[in-house]
Amino acid sequence: MRRSDISGFYKLPIEERLRLLKDFAGLTDEEVNILKKTGALELDSANRMIENVVGTTELPLGIATNFLINGKDYLIPMAIEEPSVVAAASYAAKLARPKGGFNTNSTEPIMIGQIQLVSVNDIEKAAQEILNKKEEIIELANKQDPILIKFGGGVKDVEVRKINTKRGEMLVIHLLVDVRDAMGANAVNTMAEAVAPFLEEITGGKARLRIISNLADRRIARAKAIWSKDILGEELVEGILDAYAFAEADQYRCTTHNKGIMNGIDAVVIATGNDFRAVEAGAHSYAARNGRYQSLTKYYKNEDGDLVGEIELPVAVGTVGGATRTHPIAKIALKILGVKTAKELGEIIAAVGLAQNFAALRALASEGIQRGHMELHATNIAVLAGAKGDEIDEVAEQMIKEGNINVQRAKEILEEMKK
Ligand code: NAD
Repeated sequence: MRRSDISGFYKLPIEERLRLLKDFAGLTDEEVNILKKTGALELDSANRMIENVVGTTELPLGIATNFLINGKDYLIPMAIEEPSVVAAASYAAKLARPKGGFNTNSTEPIMIGQIQLVSVNDIEKAAQEILNKKEEIIELANKQDPILIKFGGGVKDVEVRKINTKRGEMLVIHLLVDVRDAMGANAVNTMAEAVAPFLEEITGGKARLRIISNLADRRIARAKAIWSKDILGEELVEGILDAYAFAEADQYRCTTHNKGIMNGIDAVVIATGNDFRAVEAGAHSYAARNGRYQSLTKYYKNEDGDLVGEIELPVAVGTVGGATRTHPIAKIALKILGVKTAKELGEIIAAVGLAQNFAALRALASEGIQRGHMELHATNIAVLAGAKGDEIDEVAEQMIKEGNINVQRAKEILEEMKK
């Protein structure tokens, strides 16, 4: 019987892990060789990033063009497996250029570290005591990260919240940490752990969780663009406004609406080696902050009848820390963007999210999403049907011509070609 409880798997050299994996899964020599074949991220580096490494995986890296953000031109690296996303972002950015492209702004890069205190006897008194000792708490936290302090970051404030839970009342202390150019999780978690014993001492409570919150609602990025009605046409402006109204009124639509935004956002977050789970969690939680899941973008007509689009969401990304400086592609992606700060990166990401959303709404409100997808989709279907080399394009073209794109038809065309 194949067993997964392999003791010390993490201690084994990669070769040995691969041998075990080969036996377990019945991999062929060819498949093992594919696992060993890495791209820019070499096995040794990957092995230092996570545990139990047996290979790396790759995504296509595309460049979105046409982005004019705060008067500056950017080429945007996007790592994503989904067809049409890069093209759509580039197209939306192109259509935004005549009215000045994207304008962005953001808050300071403040992340929240939470410390949960349970078994506090007198909650009111404890809360007051914490606020009285605010300066000491800040000093203790800031001692943990002299580098961050040197760059102007560190704990800026301490807040105390009382929450009611099914296990009774608890105190939750928030450290508001300016993390400068880092995503901040390690920095904030270290601080939260460091101040917890002091909080126990002054309140008599018991500290449980000490961890960053991914609802980064003090680290908000915003972007705005105007799409001219002369370019879109009045009918399309109305169509996009109807699409937006649909998302605002209906959760089923709104989820897909926001997913489209994240198509663009995640692609840049991944290309730059940032934590896309953190950005995803923050975005969706922010979308539901009013008790109902809502759109991260909004659209309206200005006095000229042009379409104005806006986006607002937390974007917790860094230009230092995490994999941003250890993944070779991430380093190059940051160089392509030419960003100087995490704040600038966050704002660019917000602009890409808005562009992506606009592009999706534009397509949905007019010809539909499938036409744009068709070509790459047909190529994928041809590959699925077994086409190789030049056959791929030939089969794809034939299916597009017939307006009949499916694996069955691709197989038939392949057979006809071979006859
Ligand atoms: P990090 O600790 O690798 O780097 C941040 C550190 O870099 C700072 O603490 C500071 O000492 C130093 N630094 C140097 N120059 C700086 C500058 N200009 N601005 C700010 N700091 C500077 O990384 P991090 O950003 O603290 O943590 C990110 C990592 O934590 C990610 O890999 C993420 O996946 C992971 N993580 C996330 C969660 C979560 O989101 N819930 C939880 C745990 C870990």
